[in-house]
Amino acid sequence: MDINDILTHLGEDRDLYFQSVAPPVIQTSNFVFSGIEDMRHKILDENHYHVYTRGNNPTVNILRKKIAALEKTEDALVTGSGASAVSGAVMSFVEQGDHIICVQKPYSWTYSLISQYLAKFGVAYDFVDGSSISDIKNVIRPNTKVLYLESPNSLTFEIQDLRACAELAKKNNIITIIDNSHCSPLYQNPAVFGIDLVVHSATKYLNGHSDVVAGVICGSKNHIEHIFKTSYMTLGLIISPHDASMIIRGLRTLPLRLKQSNDTAFYIASKLEGHPKIQKVIHPLLPSFPQYTLANSQMSGAGGLTTIVLKTDSKQDVYSFVNALQHFLMAVSWGGYESLIIPSIVFHDMPGKPDSPIPWTYIRFYFGLEEADFLLNDILQALDKM
Ligand SMILES: *Cc1c(COP(=O)(O)O)cnc(C)c1O
Repeated sequence: MDINDILTHLGEDRDLYFQSVAPPVIQTSNFVFSGIEDMRHKILDENHYHVYTRGNNPTVNILRKKIAALEKTEDALVTGSGASAVSGAVMSFVEQGDHIICVQKPYSWTYSLISQYLAKFGVAYDFVDGSSISDIKNVIRPNTKVLYLESPNSLTFEIQDLRACAELAKKNNIITIIDNSHCSPLYQNPAVFGIDLVVHSATKYLNGHSDVVAGVICGSKNHIEHIFKTSYMTLGLIISPHDASMIIRGLRTLPLRLKQSNDTAFYIASKLEGHPKIQKVIHPLLPSFPQYTLANSQMSGAGGLTTIVLKTDSKQDVYSFVNALQHFLMAVSWGGYESLIIPSIVFHDMPGKPDSPIPWTYIRFYFGLEEADFLLNDILQALDKM
């Protein structure tokens, strides 16, 4: 289906709400039945009938249809955070005694889900370097149930060969799950390569306005039905109708926002490469990226994230650079309208914590919707202050 049709019309039935152009927020917790038969019938299939908003709500359903179409999957669920989308998807497919294979540097709370939370319930795990398919193959056990991918990851952007991972997993009856937040559904559709479940932090590009925390899980009708009946309903992964309507509004401009961020990041990354105060620029679609060819074969864009590595031996230089920036907010998250930085040095010298494995010279930028030269000039003047 055409992207314009998905974002502007799909799932919206204006006959049902006074021909209003924007869909209403159906802010209700529960729905009325016409009688005993009706109630019995609908409670047996809560995923498809309006019973209770923890399961099914008309405003949320509009969003579910759009998200599934964007990821080219049969169905989708929308959840109250990206973290709940990740945990809901993973937890629906493992039980005590099972084993999970996960890429080495996933999102921090995904790492703690697998290494701490699920480990408590007797689920074993291996973290592997996802850039090598044979490394993944070597750790498959008879009880491996899930292969968890994140491509690219959101700090140093390592990617996995999605076609090869899907093929390997299918041969071994393993469910594949990918965190596709980095590319958004516009620049990579993992289901097309055979990946079973695609999750996103919808907090990032899908909502895109830094005012809602949400997540999505996309997959086949059968897989989504299974997740609905297990983790989604029991853990209460719900998003509120109001937040869902905010994301529907955010999606209207997804292609425009993403293009602006993507083009700016690529432009600035290209301009900064070779700068005397920069050791390395990391962006998956720069020819200097070690997995450039693979990246090009499965991603049609990379969005607004770029990491630079400063060329210095002095932590003071990092402070000077960061403090000199005028137009970047220092904050976690990304995917909104505003440009951001996270300097890795924050995660060094933390009281009571080991230093981050990412060196303190690394700085991750998110380029938002401001003009490219406005942002580039700010970085250049800050480099001069080092
Ligand atoms: C932010 C993020 C998450 C978690 O999403 P929340 O919406 O913050 O719960 C998961 N994966 C990636 C790659 C992220 O950047």
